[in-house]
Amino acid sequence: MGSLTPGAMASPVSVPPRPTLSVPPQPRLRLFGSPVRVPASLWAWPLILSLLVVGGVMFWLRSQEQASLTAQREEMISDALSLEAQMTGRLDGELAQLGILADLIDSRRLTPQAFDAHPVVLDGLRRFWVSVTWLSDAGRIQAHQPEEADPVGATRRQLSNDGGLTGHLSVSLAGRTDRPGGLLVARFSAAALLREKVPWWLASKYDIRMVDDGDDVIAATVEGPRDEGQAWYRVSLGPSLPSAWLELASRERIAPWWRTLPVALMLGFLGLIAGASVMLRKQMRSVSRAEEAWRTEAAWRTAMEDSLAVGIRARDLDGRLIYVNKTMADMVGRQPEELVGLLPPMPYWVPDELDQSMRRHLRNMAGQAPRGGYESRWQHRDGHIVEVMVYEAPLVDAQGVQIGWMASIVNITERKQLEERERRQMEAVAHQARLTMLGEVASTLAHELNQPLSAITSYNTGLLNALSGRSDVPEPVLKALQRQGEQAGQAARIVKRIREFLTRREPQREPCDLHEVIASGVGLLKRDIARHEVEVSLELADDLPRVIADPVLIEQVVVNLVRNACDAMAGQEGPRRIRIHAEASCAAPSVTPFVRVSVSDSGPGLHGQTVATLCAPFFTTKSDGMGMGLAICRSIIELHYGALDASESPSGGAMFAFSLPTTDADTDNDNDNDNDTENPA
Ligand code: ADP
Repeated sequence: MGSLTPGAMASPVSVPPRPTLSVPPQPRLRLFGSPVRVPASLWAWPLILSLLVVGGVMFWLRSQEQASLTAQREEMISDALSLEAQMTGRLDGELAQLGILADLIDSRRLTPQAFDAHPVVLDGLRRFWVSVTWLSDAGRIQAHQPEEADPVGATRRQLSNDGGLTGHLSVSLAGRTDRPGGLLVARFSAAALLREKVPWWLASKYDIRMVDDGDDVIAATVEGPRDEGQAWYRVSLGPSLPSAWLELASRERIAPWWRTLPVALMLGFLGLIAGASVMLRKQMRSVSRAEEAWRTEAAWRTAMEDSLAVGIRARDLDGRLIYVNKTMADMVGRQPEELVGLLPPMPYWVPDELDQSMRRHLRNMAGQAPRGGYESRWQHRDGHIVEVMVYEAPLVDAQGVQIGWMASIVNITERKQLEERERRQMEAVAHQARLTMLGEVASTLAHELNQPLSAITSYNTGLLNALSGRSDVPEPVLKALQRQGEQAGQAARIVKRIREFLTRREPQREPCDLHEVIASGVGLLKRDIARHEVEVSLELADDLPRVIADPVLIEQVVVNLVRNACDAMAGQEGPRRIRIHAEASCAAPSVTPFVRVSVSDSGPGLHGQTVATLCAPFFTTKSDGMGMGLAICRSIIELHYGALDASESPSGGAMFAFSLPTTDADTDNDNDNDNDTENPA
């Protein structure tokens, strides 16, 4: 049988080294939710993916090539074995014919003279043999056909009339004692054998050759040597034809995978992708540079906007906030992120002014905001009111289309407060002017009343003197006259002191016993207390120190506080109680000791009104009130270096209290002022 020459099966396949891929670290992409951060190596992804795809396709092509080569080889082996079987069968048949001839010679039925004309010889020459030779043991030719062929040197190889080398078949002749053996040799044309046994389709598929051990071609279906890249297979033709091989070389050439069209296309594709990646990288770099520049610019802009004292607000055409700067957000005590995206009503609108704010918003959205800006009131998150000045302007995009409204906002709270303070000061000045005028009027009135009161007192005294010695005057008349004189005298004193107070003269301070002052004040209101059915309780400490004060003025304070308490409880059902409490107090050694007097009642209370409100001149809730009582009381107490305050009583109702120092800080002044005191009489 034939054998396959080692290493001759197929052309060597060279596998190119696989490209080394540097796979970038897996980028963390979040497609949903937060925005995707594009990794810097994104530009290389298409190239890397393309390399992977191309690598995969090349691997597949190589596998396909291997499979094709294997299939081709198996088919070629099968064809070679089939052809070899046919050829050896043919040669075996010829050997059998040669054996018949040898048997005839051996049995002496065929002599050298009859050899040439023997039918087996002639038939063999006609059929297949080129020549047939009968050789003796000594190698001498006993017979040879056809005679024109030169038998010399044609033992093994000789050009046949087909133009190719011939092969030979030989059968040994058995020797005998009377006759030596020999050799019967039939030469045949290898080319003819190939021509006869190789079908056309096989010849078109393979280059078929018969070769000997030395690789010399005996016969072939084609001329010329075998190509380097051809796949081939050899099979031995022995024992019919020892030392001869049948060789099939495939005409179909399987191109190496790396020389196929897909590989060329993929390489072109890779080139394009590489070019595109380079351009993408350039583009990404320029985008990245632009983005960095934009970020820097945005940071600058944000820093500038945040450093502005002016708030900035942008709204779309629906009124939705699309941008607010830090200043604006700070104005209302919120974060910009809280505000962006909100639609009216805004959380910083004053709850009591929602309708007004909405009307103003609709006006602004209609493009009718005042050109010179408008004032508005917003509410800070902590509740305080922020006064702002808003200047609206259209917000247009790059195409010049209006997409909303842009507003700059100035916080004018301080300015408004300043204006309010100035307005109050103006009012206070005007009020003071009125008070001054009123003081002048009161002073004049007191001056004018002084004379009639003195006259009443004098007439009353004269009348009492005249009537005191008479027995026909009833006692109640005398008492009434006496009481009338006391009241007139009291009125004169009050008018005198008030006049002194209004003419800014210092009060006539003297050590006074508050027990007496308070009792005297309550005594003056005896009738009112009785009429209102009020129960008055005095809780005066026994060891109350004397205070340096004008007893008449302090008495007026007590009278005013008790009368107010009576008035407050006048219409109410249930018990009506007034409690007057006095005690000495010394908060600290460094603080001047003082006496605190409080007047509390069981009335309706102060309804949250502060002492400042209650003591404001002309503040009154009474239909016939003047609203000057508490104002004068506070002035009197402050004139004595004390303080007046008002609060809700722990037992319900109101509590007014005043404190007076127990030492005279201004005794010298007091003495000086004694000389200035005008005698009302
Ligand atoms: P007038 O007595 O003329 O109203 P006042 O200055 O004495 O003026 O009092 C001012 C206001 O203070 C009163 O109208 C009243 O509303 C309130 N007021 C004073 N004392 C009391 C009290 N004991 N209880 C409740 N309200 C009081």
